This record gives sequence, C-alpha cells and structure tokens, in this order.
Amino acid sequence: MTKPFRTLDDVDVRGKRVLLRVDLNVPMDQGRVTDTTRLDRVAPTITEIADKGGKVILLAHFGRPKGRDAKDSLKPVAAELAKVVKKPVGFADDCIGDVAQKAVDAMKDGDILCLENTRFHKEEEKNDPAFVAELAKLGDIWVNDAFSAAHRAHASTEGLGHKLPAYAGRTMQAELEALNKALDAPTKPVIAIIGGAKVSTKIDLLENLVSKVDALVIGGGMANTFLHARGINVGKSLAEKDLAATALRILEKAEAANCAIILPVDATVAFHFAANAPSHAYGLDAIPAEGMILDVGPQSVERVHSAIDDAATLVWNGPLGAFEMPPFDRGTIVAAKHAAARTKAGKLVSVAGGGDTVAALNQAGVAGDFTYVSTAGGAFLEWMEGKPLPGVEVLRTQ
Ligand code: AMP
Repeated sequence: MTKPFRTLDDVDVRGKRVLLRVDLNVPMDQGRVTDTTRLDRVAPTITEIADKGGKVILLAHFGRPKGRDAKDSLKPVAAELAKVVKKPVGFADDCIGDVAQKAVDAMKDGDILCLENTRFHKEEEKNDPAFVAELAKLGDIWVNDAFSAAHRAHASTEGLGHKLPAYAGRTMQAELEALNKALDAPTKPVIAIIGGAKVSTKIDLLENLVSKVDALVIGGGMANTFLHARGINVGKSLAEKDLAATALRILEKAEAANCAIILPVDATVAFHFAANAPSHAYGLDAIPAEGMILDVGPQSVERVHSAIDDAATLVWNGPLGAFEMPPFDRGTIVAAKHAAARTKAGKLVSVAGGGDTVAALNQAGVAGDFTYVSTAGGAFLEWMEGKPLPGVEVLRTQ
C-alpha cells in the first residue's frame, strides 16, 4: 500500500506564506505565451490559497538556462497568469536574496507573487542545501502542484519538502488520485496500450507493466521490433533488430505474469514515409520487402477494440502508428474514439499521458472524454515505469 499524502485539506493557509511550486513551462513565441493549458491547470490551487487568505509565492523553472538569461525570464508568464487567474500577480526579479525577501515582506494576505526562474541558480538542479535554506526562508509551508517536475529531485521540487511542512496542491492531488486508480489500485481487468517509435526508450515501462496489467497492447514502431523478434519479416519498417532478445525477454516475462500480449495481426504499409503516401493493409505473412509498416491494420484495430471492451481500466501511452501523417493516424484515432465512448458509457476508467499521446487524443477530438489525461511527459513515463517520484514521495505522511 502506498502511503497517503497531505493535501490542502490538511492545513489552514490563512495568513501563511505559501511557497507554491508550479509548472509554468509554457510554450512561448517572441515573448508571448502560445498555449495557456499549464496555467489553466494550476489556476485552481492558486485561487484557492489566495481566496483563503494565504500569501501565494510561486516557484517555477522555465526552459534550460545556464545561469541568468533574459530570454528565460518568467516575467511575461506571470503577466499571462494574471489574466488566467483574474487577479494581480506580482513579480520579483530573483527567487532568493534581498529582492525576493522584500517582495515577500510587502505581501498582504491573498496576494500572489511570482519569483524569477529557479534555474537561474545552478544550485536548483543540484538540490543544494544552502539554496534550499534560502528558498525556505521565504515561506511557512511548501505546496507542490507540479507533478510534471516531480521526477526531479531539485531544490524547489523536492528539497523544500524536507525543510517546510509539505502538501500536494489540487492539480498534483488530482493527478495522483487518477494515477492511483489506473495502476496502483485499479478496477480489474486492466489493459495498457503502449505505442510509439522505439522499444529502447520504453523497456523499463514495458517490464513494469507486464507485471501489473492483465493485457498489454503493443503498437506503433515498437511493435515491429516484437514482430521481427518473432520471425516476421517487417520489410523496411522502423525496427530495432538488435533488441530482438530484449523483446523476447519481455514476452516471456508477460507469459510468466499471466499478462496477455496483443501484437498487431495485420499492418498498414506504405512505400514512402510521407503523409498521404499510397498504402494498403497486409497480413503479417505478406509484408512487402520494400514496404514500411506505418500503422496497425484494420483487423488489429478490431482486436484492440475487443481488448478495450474486456477491460475496466485502461492506461495508454504512445500512438499506434505514425499519427502525424494521415492516413497513418487511423488506428490511433479509431482506438482512441472507442476508448472514449466506453469511458463516456461508464464502462471504463481511462488514463492517458505523454506528449505525443495527448496530441493524438486531441487530434481524435476525445481528450476531454478520457477519465484523466496527464500532460506530464517524463514524470508520467517514470510513474509508468514504477519508479518512485521524489517530488511525490516527499509529500507522503510518515
Ligand atoms: P514516442 O515518442 O516513443 O511515443 O513515439 C512517438 C512517435 O512514434 C510518433 O512520432 C510516431 O509518428 C512514431 N511512430 C509510431 N508508429 C510508427 C511506425 N509504425 N513507424 C514509424 N514511426 C512510428
């Protein structure tokens, strides 16, 4: 049993200086925020603390600066955030030292202040104790609402949790509750759909899943490596032939764990890696030597549908084909729509995550119909790999 974690229900924030770690790593173009999704996600926690009379002091990183760099300043993001939360958001030019201290001292209950990019100090990523102590001076409690950064043990994502009373923000709480329902304490049977380009980036993930789920659908380019390992000629398809032994080991582990493996039974094949390249469905015994498998075939999609129908819980990461290039998005889109319909009908708990997966679900127009869609890339994958996330572990009650 995983230990429970503290939330905002466990603390009275009135009059307190709340160091709130958020994900403000929004896409920008020429100094303008182009997508406010991440701001929308953290807005409820900010608003709740401010409305309860807490002083909201925002901590976040932006980009990968090497030291102070104006192009990675959080100032324009803070301005955009003010529009999203519909309240003034102050800004301090540094996250520690006199500048930060003065700005915090000037705050009234309910005020919101954004501190400059934590990564302007190299000590942030080193989780340097002196830097953690400097940050901790500015707050009475620490609230972590940045699940997407929770796989990193940095000063503002983990270190502060050892110095100050630590709580999960509402976004973090929602994410952890959804993930818990998906893999840690799911309604069975559980199915996982794993796609994407390569096996090499998802070996740990596949090994963890076969011991946890009842059925594992493998699609995308990585399925080709498994098919090749089983002696199927995959023509010119993307396949990591040197990983055949790894693929076979995963299949054996699945069998030992009673996890059904669902590999494609047919394939959509083209002769050019390009959108709208002419394509046909082929059986696995007839993949042309010059052909490339760019999507699962229609019979495979049917199999995925019935596997989804048999499941009560679904976890999904990775597209089933080269979904950026129509028509090779078909398998992913049709399966996503099916999972969404089952979810809407109350038959399925569906959790999906990862950058390409979110893009594919948006392309299918069904992201809103899944039970939960995680926008966290690395942290979501490490969770699927079964690894403890430092920024979450530090929130757990002893
Ligand atoms: P990943 O980042 O590992 O989830 O991989 C996502 C990428 O895999 C996307 O860019 C897809 O276009 C690509 N992909 C999926 N299936 C195939 C395939 N059969 N052949 C080539 N690329 C694929």
